[in-house]
Amino acid sequence: MAMFDKILIANRGEIALRVIRACREMGIRSVAVHSTADADAMHVRMADESVCIGPAPATQSYLSFPAIISACEITGAQAIHPGYGFLSENAQFVQIVEDHDLTFIGPTAEHIRIMGDKISAKDTMKALGVPCVPGSDGGVDTLEDALKIGEEFGYPVIIKATAGGGGKGMKVANSAEEMKSAFQTARAEGKSNFGNSEVYIEKYLTTPRHIEIQVFGDGKGNAVHLGERDCSLQRRHQKVFEEAPGPAISAEERAAIGKVCADACARIKYIGAGTIEFLYENGEFYFIEMNTRLQVEHPITEAIFGQDLVREQIRVASGLPISFAQEDLTIDGHAIEVRINAEKLPNFAPCPGRITQFHAPGGLGVRMDSALYTGYSIPPYYDSLIGKLIVHGRDRPEALARLARALGELIVDGVDTTVPLFHALLQEEAVQTGEYNIHWLERWLDDNLT
Ligand code: ADP
Repeated sequence: MAMFDKILIANRGEIALRVIRACREMGIRSVAVHSTADADAMHVRMADESVCIGPAPATQSYLSFPAIISACEITGAQAIHPGYGFLSENAQFVQIVEDHDLTFIGPTAEHIRIMGDKISAKDTMKALGVPCVPGSDGGVDTLEDALKIGEEFGYPVIIKATAGGGGKGMKVANSAEEMKSAFQTARAEGKSNFGNSEVYIEKYLTTPRHIEIQVFGDGKGNAVHLGERDCSLQRRHQKVFEEAPGPAISAEERAAIGKVCADACARIKYIGAGTIEFLYENGEFYFIEMNTRLQVEHPITEAIFGQDLVREQIRVASGLPISFAQEDLTIDGHAIEVRINAEKLPNFAPCPGRITQFHAPGGLGVRMDSALYTGYSIPPYYDSLIGKLIVHGRDRPEALARLARALGELIVDGVDTTVPLFHALLQEEAVQTGEYNIHWLERWLDDNLT
């Protein structure tokens, strides 16, 4: 199979730029798609070609199968990179892309389907020897069964929508009394957000870290891992600050869990980038879900391994082998990413509007992935992520110092952002030492922002 001449990017914002940049370095032409609200967006300016695919609501543009497939046909793009979010984990879309003799730059429809359903994902991982959170075997249909499971595993437990994502459709029950409303709410949220009310139950871990393993497969039975990211600093189950390597993970633990993950991917002939997410408590890893796409926080992994994951995605999608072997991968230093959202503290209310001044930080070890420019108006229709600041240092203290320095150089005027949150977090001892878990940030926000 030959390398693609032209790739269409079915996304917007910083991730569209990320893919366009990889295409340009590989000598591949890029096609941007955009809604009418994004006519002035940076991804449209930066791509070689662009196609307007519909009005502002994503359902009529970035999520429209016919609009995106037509844009490929008009421009002659041979492959589609979905970025993250939007259609990146939509098995039906992947099927349609293939039916049109186009290549989806990502895993197969079948793998997306298996991992998109959290119950089948857990069953599959368990069968592949990946350790999982103890809990119900499969779906729980009645309150009566839910109460039995609460009894069996002991409270607290977490009730999760099997189709859930983005922190939605999850409820904690601390006691049998709380089970009734938690069970019903999780089902209702699953139904309204994902069209599926099925839920399952897991033991709720009280002080875990969120540790995720980056995996990469060639679709032919070869797979490698690129270590872990610690994404424990979360608000409402959404990541805010990520670092690699994880401050609590030893080289031995990394090698062991990394091998389990790479072997699992090799066995299912996984293709492309994937992330296997775990909770980590008292030295044990517990699988929670697999994301079958490039993650928002992939740049910290790129920084410490010196690899371009988007380039690799494009290469394996075209039929080429992975360009590195496990033994070629060694960790260089430490990297941190902070997610900069157009949101107003303390409530994190979305804050779209016109950017009156933008200046990105620079210098050694600093990467700013953002589609902002001075004069740009952030539309109110999409995600509030407006940039990712990624720093890389020889070690963790250097990365932290560099982050403080780079945040100080960053200028985003005209809208409120989450930048002040990071200035404040960097003063905290738990962030300085890396001794935090998935609940630390919520508690800190309660104590400091309200
Ligand atoms: P989503 O698909 O919505 O991202 P996940 O299953 O990945 O949901 O879980 C997101 C976050 O929710 C985790 O990073 C963790 O903070 C919390 N979480 C999930 N399962 C558990 C559990 N069993 N115990 C404690 N916290 C959990």
